[in-house]
Amino acid sequence: MICVLCGGTGAAKFLQGLQRIVPPAEITAVVNTGDDVMWWGLHVSPDVDSITYALAGILSRERGWGVEGDTFECHARMRELGAPAWFSLGDRDLATHLQRTQWLKGGRSLTNVTAEMARRLGVQSRILPMSDDPVETRVVTESGELSFQEYFVRERHQPVPWEVRYIGAEKAHPARGVLDAIHQAQLVIVAPSNPITSIGPILAVPGIRGALRATPATIVAVSPIVGEAAVSGPAGELMRAHGLEVSIRGVAQVYADFLDMVVVEESDRKLAPRVEDLGIRVHSCRTMMQSDEDKAELARQVLVASKMRTPTPTSQSQASRGPRPRAASPRRP
Ligand code: GDP
Repeated sequence: MICVLCGGTGAAKFLQGLQRIVPPAEITAVVNTGDDVMWWGLHVSPDVDSITYALAGILSRERGWGVEGDTFECHARMRELGAPAWFSLGDRDLATHLQRTQWLKGGRSLTNVTAEMARRLGVQSRILPMSDDPVETRVVTESGELSFQEYFVRERHQPVPWEVRYIGAEKAHPARGVLDAIHQAQLVIVAPSNPITSIGPILAVPGIRGALRATPATIVAVSPIVGEAAVSGPAGELMRAHGLEVSIRGVAQVYADFLDMVVVEESDRKLAPRVEDLGIRVHSCRTMMQSDEDKAELARQVLVASKMRTPTPTSQSQASRGPRPRAASPRRP
């Protein structure tokens, strides 16, 4: 079993590759819900939807979110009627939010609704929201405090971010199945997702970080940072706001207490010693996912790299290695 911690766009691309090389039923995706938003009275779970659509083979290639070939008739009419329209929902996508909202109002959990939605769309992998409890990612910026969607979509992540908060996280519980998925996996992959606003909320749910520290699984992250910038989106600015270096070292630092290995772009190979200093191995390969082949090849690289044994450190590199707080694992040398 492979457990993948997921945001939206970067994770969706990665999972499209992964499901081409391992049986989809072997994959459990644990997905961020900190970006969830009530829009036109409907419960929208943007990351859960991106992952579901990606695994169902209906994610829009052009946009990277929403349903392939969708139309926006309802959105246009809502705008005419004076409704807020800075957040777009396609017509077919709308059906997902209508049905999710109905099911939630009927007393079902987000976990249950997500599973049923995935099943009806023919998804064979397991998709788990990180929590059934509300967690709201809020970005404190130079122009005031914004919800994640206000910051990302309405303001096009232009205001300088100062801090990200996960409101409600301390009272949230991991969704049923999340901790078991982490404990029982042979491999946990942190997708190439925004470390602060996609993976951050997942790690903020009490119990999840502890499970990652304790699992005997190998844990590998794919870096969403190449060189000194994110491949797309505001991950760089948000990492900087949290005092992190915008580099593969900064990514490794966010996950340092549980990570075994980070997979980085070839051109970042030169920075490997600065990550290995944290006690984290580095595998370099092409991580830019443009074609379907790129996606599958990156997934293959992650699987191959995760099976590599830790090279016996020379006394010198051993000495340069800092202490590693990750809990001892029975399977680890
Ligand atoms: P969001 O919820 O839409 O922000 O989705 P994610 O957090 O999953 O994805 C955004 C992150 O994916 C950004 O930080 C990007 O740098 C990263 N990303 C997008 N495409 C690629 C890619 O092809 N390769 C790598 N390595 N990272 C990518």
